Amino acid sequence: MQYDYLIVGSGLMGATFAYLAHQAGKRCLVVERRSHTGGNVYCQEVAGIQVHQYGAHILHTNNRDVWQFVNAIAECNRYTNSPVANYQGKLYNLPFNMNTFCQMWGVTTPAQAKEKIEEQRSDAVRKLAGRQPSNLEEQALTLVGKDIFERLIKGYTEKQWGRSCRELPAFIIRRLPLRFVFDNNYFNDRYQGIPIGGYNKLIDSLLQDIEVRVNTDFLEHRQELTSLAGKVLYTGPLDAYFDYQLGHLQYRTVRFETEVLDIPNYQGNAVVNYTDRNVPFTRIIEHKHFEKFGSAVYDNPQTVISREYSMEWLPGMEPYYPVNDERNTVLLREYQALAAREENVVFAGRLAEYKYYDMAPTIERAMLLWSQERT
Ligand code: FAD
Ligand code: UDP
Repeated sequence: MQYDYLIVGSGLMGATFAYLAHQAGKRCLVVERRSHTGGNVYCQEVAGIQVHQYGAHILHTNNRDVWQFVNAIAECNRYTNSPVANYQGKLYNLPFNMNTFCQMWGVTTPAQAKEKIEEQRSDAVRKLAGRQPSNLEEQALTLVGKDIFERLIKGYTEKQWGRSCRELPAFIIRRLPLRFVFDNNYFNDRYQGIPIGGYNKLIDSLLQDIEVRVNTDFLEHRQELTSLAGKVLYTGPLDAYFDYQLGHLQYRTVRFETEVLDIPNYQGNAVVNYTDRNVPFTRIIEHKHFEKFGSAVYDNPQTVISREYSMEWLPGMEPYYPVNDERNTVLLREYQALAAREENVVFAGRLAEYKYYDMAPTIERAMLLWSQERT
């Protein structure tokens, strides 16, 4: 055996695991289907700006170990995510907080805002008659009421998921904070930021001194590659590993329309959500605001924006968000039963576990897997 580990995929899962194993003296080979490493955190420099090629990525966590691990390898900036919603030309701060309530109804104190929300949600609460909300629409209406649901949730959610709010699970909306303070920080986590110089710095440092073969699809060279290593960490799609023999697991995907503009500042914020159903894209990302703050925004006379169009995934497209409905949950269990029978293969990460992992939980999972390997 030439290697202790063959690591399939150079996203955050593969790269973190490879780093930890390499640090412990293990011989690792990383193979990556794409022409570059990094998986979905990969950035491309366009007009001097780090463009998040596969969608905007903000690292946020309460886990100090993960935060310190990342910062020891690639220091993070002080970016705080504070998206703005544009509904028919009027702007509202997110997540739902005193600024939003003031913009929506002109209320200025928490007591006034609470009273207004009580009035807004009363109809929906009455209709539930004591039972739990059974879908996203009921959950949103009983949480924040009619105006916020109609202006800031309904259109955005239906565009993002391609389904009516009545067909979506309630839990999706529960992760949005509701605050009675003037605080536009989208996340409740203690630590938040973006690696200075972009995510490639983090990935390149994790993979430093490790053999990496890009443009190499494991599934096309399965036998030959497997024979090189004692164990495989597979981070590609679970159904692809089994040649889709039970059918395809479904995803939502995103189409990005990226433009370089000859102005220094297009929308004044990294993220603007378009919450009206009639606007075809869900949001516009202006990448420079992830890394330049205050007057530094004007150092570069150009800017790069990406409009995001959420779409149903078809084979051949990039798989982004797992669709956790009943069909896919059943299929996942069947594939997991097949995976459990594979010897010397660990299935890990967003695609191999068919699970929506944020970056910090991905790193945590890689750390856990490595600690299990060590023992
Ligand atoms: P991936 O990054 O998908 O890496 C898997 C790698 O395996 C890919 O490089 C792929 O090319 C490779 N591969 C697949 N099959 C094969 C094969 N057969 N042979 C060789 N290589 C193969 N997280 C946050 O914390 N904050 C955010 O703001 C955030 N925003 C996101 C926005 C979008 C649009 C998406 C889709 C995700 C976002 N995430 C965010 C989640 C984040 O991208 C994931 O947590 C992270 O990418 C998971 O890493 P991974 O290695 O499991 O998967
Ligand atoms: N959401 C919304 N309006 C917004 C932003 C989010 O209705 O302006 C809803 C949408 O349904 C989304 C959910 O809140 O799926 C969770 O938001 P988050 O930002 O966590 O989205 P995700 O991580 O799913 O992209």
